[in-house]
Amino acid sequence: MDSDRHGRTLRLELGDQTLRGWQAVVLASDPEQGLVLDRSAFYPGGGGQPPDHGVLLWGGVQTRVVGVRKTDDLWLVPADDDPLPPVGTQVRGGVEDERRTALMRTHSGLHLLSGIVFRDYGTLVTGGNMEPLQARMDFNLPVLPDGFRDAVTAACAVEVAADRAITTSTLPRERAFAEYPDLIRTATNLLPDDLEVVRIVDIAGLDTQADAGTHVASTKAIGALEILKIENKGKGFRRLRVRILEN
Ligand SMILES: [Zn+2]
Repeated sequence: MDSDRHGRTLRLELGDQTLRGWQAVVLASDPEQGLVLDRSAFYPGGGGQPPDHGVLLWGGVQTRVVGVRKTDDLWLVPADDDPLPPVGTQVRGGVEDERRTALMRTHSGLHLLSGIVFRDYGTLVTGGNMEPLQARMDFNLPVLPDGFRDAVTAACAVEVAADRAITTSTLPRERAFAEYPDLIRTATNLLPDDLEVVRIVDIAGLDTQADAGTHVASTKAIGALEILKIENKGKGFRRLRVRILEN
């Protein structure tokens, strides 16, 4: 099974998270559904990380991409009133770098945060969501430990300064769980039963998780993580609201 493929589209962003521009051919063009490309680096959304924005350039024309819909295919959603390239058109794709890089820093920052909370408090994540440079993450924490906020903030700063490498790899499902029993760091196993290949995101020496998102190459590239607020949501869980700042 080719884990880098979704329907007719080769997902370039899974192999190279730094890629921002590429050549592609339009395989489907539909005013209702949008566009399907043979190759795309637009992250389609998932695992709490929202879809990329960007642009397709073709023959001096620009089609802005404002989202991605996942069906059997990856449908790029064009901006209202932008012209659609017909099937067979060669296009130059471009991911909006500012938004994607901010999302990569934010997503890696949440792995850093959940890795530290798991390491230091043994606590699992129950949910989360992110926008560029801000996010929330819910933890199973019936009682908030003394000094939790300051201790977690300080530990994040230490691990950013340590500049730990962040790498992705893929493993067959059975081997992945044999090698990493703690791979699913959320309280419920969200991996689909039919998933044969597991993508793994590893922060060296700190955290290993099954994950489909995009990440920066090392913890230093995250910047600083600030915990803005800790809300008690009842039922034993706390919501941490965080933002990512320049270091
Ligand atoms: Zn993730």
